[in-house]
Amino acid sequence: MTGFATRQVHAGGTEHHAGAAGTTRGTAQRTAPERRPTPRATPVYLTAGFEFEEWEQAGGHFGAGQGYAYTRTGNPTTTAVERRIAALEGGADALFVASGQAAVTVALLGLVAAGQRVLAAASLYEGTRGLLLENLPRLGIEADFVDDATDPAAWERAIRPETRVLFLESIPNARNDLPDLAAVADVAHAHGLALVVDNTLATPYLLRPIEHGADVVVHSASKFLAGHGSVLGGVVVDSGTFDAAASGALYPHLVAPSRTGGASVAVRHGGLARLAYVRETVAPRFGPTPSPLNAFLVGQGIETLSLRVARQSATALEVARWLAFRPEVASVDYCGLDSSPSYALAKRYLPDGQGSVFTFTLHGGAPAARAFVEAVEVVTHMTHIGDVRSLVLHPASTSHVLRTPAEQAASGVHPGTLRLSIGIEDLPDLLADLERGLSSASRAVPEETP
Ligand SMILES: *Cc1c(COP(=O)(O)O)cnc(C)c1O
Repeated sequence: MTGFATRQVHAGGTEHHAGAAGTTRGTAQRTAPERRPTPRATPVYLTAGFEFEEWEQAGGHFGAGQGYAYTRTGNPTTTAVERRIAALEGGADALFVASGQAAVTVALLGLVAAGQRVLAAASLYEGTRGLLLENLPRLGIEADFVDDATDPAAWERAIRPETRVLFLESIPNARNDLPDLAAVADVAHAHGLALVVDNTLATPYLLRPIEHGADVVVHSASKFLAGHGSVLGGVVVDSGTFDAAASGALYPHLVAPSRTGGASVAVRHGGLARLAYVRETVAPRFGPTPSPLNAFLVGQGIETLSLRVARQSATALEVARWLAFRPEVASVDYCGLDSSPSYALAKRYLPDGQGSVFTFTLHGGAPAARAFVEAVEVVTHMTHIGDVRSLVLHPASTSHVLRTPAEQAASGVHPGTLRLSIGIEDLPDLLADLERGLSSASRAVPEETP
C-alpha cells in the first residue's frame, strides 16, 4: 500500500477518471470515436440524477443497486470522496453524508433498534450526547454512559443484554481524556458487538481506529477533512469485518431475508453488511444527502490533510506547553503534555501528533475568559474546530450550557475554561495573540467565587 500523503491525493480519483464506475457508458458510446477529455480534478456532478441510457439500466439500479440514478442514492463525486476516506482510514468502504451529526445518526440507526441500547463514553461531543439523551430515546433507543472510558472493566460491567453498540471518540472533544481503544474493542468483540469510533479530532493521519479494532469509524468532515471551514460533511467508514455467524443473532436486520423474501444484506454484501445497510436502507430514507459540491470540497481539503494536521499538532503542542507555564493559567488539558493523565495513551495511540483541539482553564473564571476572548485578534471567536485558522470558544456559556455546573465540572468545563482549535498560523503570531488575551484576562475583575 502507498503512503498516507500519496493516498490522500490519489485514492478515489483514478476509478472516477476511468468513467465513473461504468455509469457514463452511453455517453462514451455517443461521443465515440472522439475521446472525452479527462479532468485531473474530480469533476463535480452537480445533478439531481442520471439518465438511464438503456432500459435495463433502470431495472438494474432499482433491483440490484447498480450504477447511479438519483443523487440521494449515490453520485460519482461523492463516491470519489468515499473511496478516498476509506483508503485513508484503512476501511473497506465508506458512506459520505451531509454532516458529522448525520454520520453519527445513520451509523447508530444502522445498528440499533427500539428496545436496544447504546453504550457510550461519558466524554462526548455535545451534539452526540444530545442525540443519545433526547432524540434516540424517543425512538425507543436508550443510552448508558461509561465515566472512566480508560477502564476496559468499566465498559465490560456496563454492557447489558440489549446493548448493540459501543461508542467513543478517539480524542474526546474537547477534554482530551483518551480511551484505550484496543481494550474497548476487545470488550465489544467478546460480546459480538460493534465498536463505533468518532475519529474527528484525530483524523486518519494521526490515528486509524480500524487498525486498533474499531468496526465503524465516523467523522465530522466539516472539521479537519474539509479543513477550511467552508462546508459541512460527515462520513461513516466500515472495516468490512461483519461476521454473520458470530453476530447475526444480535443484528437480525442484517441477516434476515429482505422484505420481499430476497437475499439478506449479509448474503449480498458479506463483511460489508453494516455499511451496505446504512447505504441502502438508512441514509436514503432519512435523507441526509450531501451536495456533490460539498463532497468535492471535502475531497479537495483532504489532499492537504497530512500537511495541515502535522503542522497544527506541532503548533498545538508548543502552545499547550507555553500556556502551561503561564501564571494566568490554572490548567491545560492537552494529551500531548506529560502532565496529562492521558499522556501514556497518547504516546501509544498518537505518536505522530496529539491533535490541535484542547481546553485550558484561566484563573479568574468567566470574566477572565470573556476578557481573553474579547482581546485576541488572530484567534477567531467561533464554534468550530479543525479550521486552518485558530479558533476559541467558551464552552461553559455555549456548547456545554445545557449541562449543570456539576456535569460541566465532570467534563472538565469550568467557568474559566476555553477551547482552542489551533490553525496553521505562525507560532510567534499565535503566542503574541495569546499573550494579548492573557494580559487582558489578568486585568479582568474577578468573580466572588472563582
Ligand atoms: C463537530 C463534531 C460532530 C458533528 O459534526 P457536524 O459536521 O458539525 O454535524 C461530531 N463529532 C465531533 C467529535 C465533532 O467535533
